[in-house]
Amino acid sequence: MSLGTDNEHPRQIYLAQPRGFCAGVVRAIEIVERALEKYGPPVYVRHEIVHNKYVVESLKNKGAIFVEDLSEVPPMAVTVFSAHGVARSVEEEAAERGLPVLNATCPLVTKVHNQGKRYMSKGRTVILIGHAGHPEVEGTMGQVPGPVLLVQNVEDVKALTLQADTPVAYITQTTLSVDDTKDIIAALQAKFTDIQGPDIRDICYATQNRQTAVRDLSKLVDVILVVGAANSSNSNRLREIGTEAGVASYLIADGSELNPDWLKGARAVGITAGASAPEVLVDDVIEALRRIGPVTVSVLPGREENIEFRLPAELAAG
Ligand code: SF4
Repeated sequence: MSLGTDNEHPRQIYLAQPRGFCAGVVRAIEIVERALEKYGPPVYVRHEIVHNKYVVESLKNKGAIFVEDLSEVPPMAVTVFSAHGVARSVEEEAAERGLPVLNATCPLVTKVHNQGKRYMSKGRTVILIGHAGHPEVEGTMGQVPGPVLLVQNVEDVKALTLQADTPVAYITQTTLSVDDTKDIIAALQAKFTDIQGPDIRDICYATQNRQTAVRDLSKLVDVILVVGAANSSNSNRLREIGTEAGVASYLIADGSELNPDWLKGARAVGITAGASAPEVLVDDVIEALRRIGPVTVSVLPGREENIEFRLPAELAAG
């Protein structure tokens, strides 16, 4: 079997830039770590703090306990809400129980909540573009004080039964594909005569930058490996974008999931990572590639990111 490499012709690996952790994920993990330091373990975290098993396991080892429902949190235990955000009903339940809460909702997700609330207060029907069942979508739908219609694709827009002149407004999940959102927004604008939306799409800077980087990567490589969890929305979009660009693309959690068959005849392999995947897992995939055959690794030039989000006041240093 030819794997497309030998000692004289090592396989070329290109790393997309940027890739991996975004500012919202860095902040969320730091909130749990600092809470553990300040209050001591255990600290309860509602839902996976970010969608990555490695991150979750590392925090478990430091004393975090992950739960899906607040009823699993004992009285007065320090509780962290995940980066994806929560519905108002969850905030209210925590307040009723007097739980000390640290909110790790990404500020860019909170921004979408606020947009939705603003549109609703102006009497508009709010339409959320997003994926059913994703915790961010559940949180956003539960933050806007009124019914929110969810559309996942252009077909869902066609199926909406609202009158064409109903005042509507759209908001979007932060981690969708820019292209998908564009088509859905165009369908909404064609259907409704009185429609508003945010000036800049809600797809967050990290999602946009990682999507642009994977498009650039796709021009150079035969195979794309996206390091990320199966339940990570932004990682799934990266894999889809690679596939849409005509490059065989695979989502893998770490090096153990690398299938040598994917590399048959592949001279150049691109690697990127979703916003919740730590760099150590990218290194693990590179090592797995190295075990299959010699490699040369280069990092593509890309957009620099220097965004940082402030920690909650009670955890800020100093
Ligand atoms: S992907 Fe974007 S919205 Fe999600 S946590 Fe990161 S910065 Fe925030």
